[in-house]
This record gives sequence, C-alpha cells and structure tokens, in this order.
Amino acid sequence: MPLMDEQRIQQAVEILSQGGLVAIPTETVYGLAANAWNEEACHEIFALKRRPPSNPLIVHVAQRGRLGDAVALPLPDKMEQRLAAVADLWPGPLTLVLPRNPRLPRIVTAGQESVAVRIPSHPVALKLLACCPFPLAAPSANRSTGVSPTQAEHVRDEFGGDAPLVLEGGDCRCGLESTIVTLLEDEPRLLRFGAMPAEFLAHRWGISLDVLLREAAPSEGERGSNTVVPGQLKIHYAPRTAVWLLDDAPPVDRRRGRWGRICFHDPTDREREEYAELCVISRDDDSTEIAGRLFAALRELDHLHLEGIVVDKCAEIGLGRAIMDRLRRASANRSTS
Ligand code: AMP
Ligand code: MG
Repeated sequence: MPLMDEQRIQQAVEILSQGGLVAIPTETVYGLAANAWNEEACHEIFALKRRPPSNPLIVHVAQRGRLGDAVALPLPDKMEQRLAAVADLWPGPLTLVLPRNPRLPRIVTAGQESVAVRIPSHPVALKLLACCPFPLAAPSANRSTGVSPTQAEHVRDEFGGDAPLVLEGGDCRCGLESTIVTLLEDEPRLLRFGAMPAEFLAHRWGISLDVLLREAAPSEGERGSNTVVPGQLKIHYAPRTAVWLLDDAPPVDRRRGRWGRICFHDPTDREREEYAELCVISRDDDSTEIAGRLFAALRELDHLHLEGIVVDKCAEIGLGRAIMDRLRRASANRSTS
C-alpha cells in the first residue's frame, strides 16, 4: 500500500478512536464508519445520514477471529454450522444476522438482540479494520433513502461541507450493497438481495431458493417479522429525478422535456433520437457491469435536471435480482412526488 494511503489510514484510526466518522471504500459501496462500541459516534452516523433510529447498522470486522467483537459467541451448533458453510465467502459482500454482543450499544442494532455483521474485502477497509481495536459500524455513506455512493467523489457530493474524511479507494468493485441473510431462524432467510447471488447461497446451505426467499413467519417475534431491514423500505436508492422502469415509462417526447435513459444494451437509432441523455452501462445485459455502474449512472443523470430517467430491465436471476430490487425501489418515488 502506498505511503500516502498508510498515513491516511493512521489519520482515520485517530479520528475513529476519538469518536469521529470516516467514509471508507468497500467492495460494495462507500460506507460511513464509526467505532461500533462508541454510542455517541454511532449516534453521529444517524444524524449525518438523517437515518431513522429504527434502522440498524451493519457492523464490520477485520477477520473471522474478531467476530466476537460484534457477535455473542459461542454460537449455537446449528448456527455455527451455517456460518461454517459460507465462512470462505468472507471477506466478501455477504452480511449475516447473528446474536449481538451486548458490548454494542443499542443504537447500532436499533434495540434488537441481533446484529448484522460482515468482513468487507476492499484492501483499504481491511487495513483500516486491522488497525482499529474496535469494530466499525458502517451503513452506506449517503443520506437516508438516497442512492448509495460507489466513488469517493459521490460521498463528498452527498454531504458537501459536512463530509467527513473520505478514504480514497477507487470505484467500488460490486457497486451494489451486500446480500443480507439472517441465521437466527431454523433455516437461513434472505433479508436483502445484494452482490452475493441468492442462488449461490441457497446451494451452499443445501436449501432450496424458495426456503431462502420465504416470507418472515408472523409468529417469530423480534427474530423474524419485526426485524427492521431499511434496505427494504419501499422508497430507497432513489435520486431526486423521477425514475421509471422501461415498461412503465410514459411515452417519451423530446418536445415535452429532456429525458435520460440508462441502457443495458447498444441503443437503437430511435432511442438515440428520443433521449437527451443516454448512459450505456452495458452493451450486452451483463449483470456484473450493470451492478457496477448503475448507481453512478443514476447520480450522473440526476445532476442534469431531466424530466425523468428511464431505466432498462434485466433478467431476475443471480445478480439481476438485486439490480431489479434496487430499480423498483428507486422508481417508487414517482407516485409520491
Ligand atoms: P445500509 O448500509 O444503509 O444499506 O444499511 C445497513 C443494512 O443492514 C440495512 O439494510 C439494515 O436493515 C441491515 N441490518 C442491520 N442490522 C440488522 C439486523 N439486526 N437485522 C436485520 N437487518 C439488519
Ligand atoms: Mg444504505
């Protein structure tokens, strides 16, 4: 790691140790990090994001050996087996919900007895975590319900003069948030689609996709139906400009304003004519490319004062499930604006 980065990381460790916030690159999106054991510092995350206190944070640890910083160990046997079946996917874009270590202040878990935890794979995040004697609570570094940042510049844009120190880490490799799965029930249950495909996880646990994707059982109390997953809010990941999924979009007419289009394919001549701004993020419906560039494209078009943004759809398999999930939530703002 270049010397400059090392110095920045030491600066970040100091800020975090004193209860401050630092924006960090991860392989999913940029996170807004604080010492997860420091209640006031975590309070600052909620304040800066304008995040409702009912929405818990993801806690990041450096390695498996430090899972106990966030999680109550030892785990019950079955949970331990479930964890072992996916342990090699860490560091990576998989967040697991496990019993919380009582050392975490209540604000981190929104009062729940569970905690969402992961090991990120970005080298800068890993290095920072290894240098911190505490775990890091870090939700996405954007205002609540907005589009997650996938470049350092996005974070500065989002918070302006209130922006904390932003550690540079380039473009986020995945570009979509982590997949969240709870291990607190009889079988693993998916809480949020994300960068780790659901099909792959179901296979790892030897369960069907239907089981992994089942609805929360109403009788499961706090461990099930009441678990708050803000990533699942109807309006989320939404830019200010109205977003439309291609099939639902009104007829686009250049005489009635300038429209933007996010394409997952080579645009046709007609599309080039109709749209004032075209953003081609894949030429052949490649879901890895689409995921990597989608949030940056939404932000870019959001700056252009367009009438609306029309986005292509993709097949809902693998990563495509997370892409379509985010697009549905981003387009939910139409009806309310
Ligand atoms: P964000 O990084 O802004 O997407 O927020 C972190 C995500 O982790 C949210 O979607 C939270 O719902 C989820 N999360 C955090 N803690 C828990 C928990 N105890 N149970 C379920 N989901 C959680
Ligand atoms: Mg978020």
